[in-house]
Amino acid sequence: MTAKRTSMAGLEPLADRVYAYTIPGAIAVNAGIVVGDEAVAVIDTGTTEADARALLAAVASVTERPVRYVINTHHHGDHSFGNWWFLPAVVVGHARCRLRLLGDEGVSRRDAFAAHLPMLREQLRELPLAPPGLTFEQHCDLHLGGVGMRLAYLGLAHTDNDIAIGIDGTGVAFAGDLTEESGPPIVSEGFPAAWGPTLRRLASAGVDRYVPGHGRMVDTSYIEWQAEAFEALSAACAAAGNARAALDALPPSVHEVLQDHTEAAVRRYFETASSAGA
Ligand SMILES: [Zn+2]
Repeated sequence: MTAKRTSMAGLEPLADRVYAYTIPGAIAVNAGIVVGDEAVAVIDTGTTEADARALLAAVASVTERPVRYVINTHHHGDHSFGNWWFLPAVVVGHARCRLRLLGDEGVSRRDAFAAHLPMLREQLRELPLAPPGLTFEQHCDLHLGGVGMRLAYLGLAHTDNDIAIGIDGTGVAFAGDLTEESGPPIVSEGFPAAWGPTLRRLASAGVDRYVPGHGRMVDTSYIEWQAEAFEALSAACAAAGNARAALDALPPSVHEVLQDHTEAAVRRYFETASSAGA
């Protein structure tokens, strides 16, 4: 089966049956569409019903088949709040992604997300959450018929439940917010001490094109550039022993990658360094 030709804005064919789709919402997030002979999977679902419907339209522009699997790269709302509109598809994610979106914790995270984004407040009010119903700890293989994908947890990084999704035989992986291209790494729930080693594992996964959570496609050298910055930040923090001294000792490469999130990353290092090995 060959991919249908399409001219839909934001939809980019990456390989036979594999597409990236930048959802044109208030938060431009990169979703993925993978079309197998037996099943269709999407990767991430946007923030709102409108985002989810835009992604559904993108799916409909390349295949008539329904979506059977929804994969969440992590729990953040811009990647998972659109899940509900894909049901009864099976939502797949890391076990901790489910916990972050489940019950009272999910509701309070949704409401906190809305409080930070006034332009989305109305759309997020009472928005129904659909946490992953199929979860895993390390990896999970999905077979769609003629195309396979490996979902892998590579370690703590942007959150405690980031996964990367490699598409067999294409050299393409969807990286979620393990890496972002349109802005610096978001560290508010991150693990700076572990993030570098996690990115090294991503860079050595036999992939050469990565769809970041936001922004344009990146290559392995970009992943390594970000890994180096987190490693340098961790080394400076470990040597300095406190945030103030660490900030004075950071090499320029750290500021280059983390930009105005550098200070937050150092703070977060000291809050989380003991979990670095998890
Ligand atoms: Zn995120």
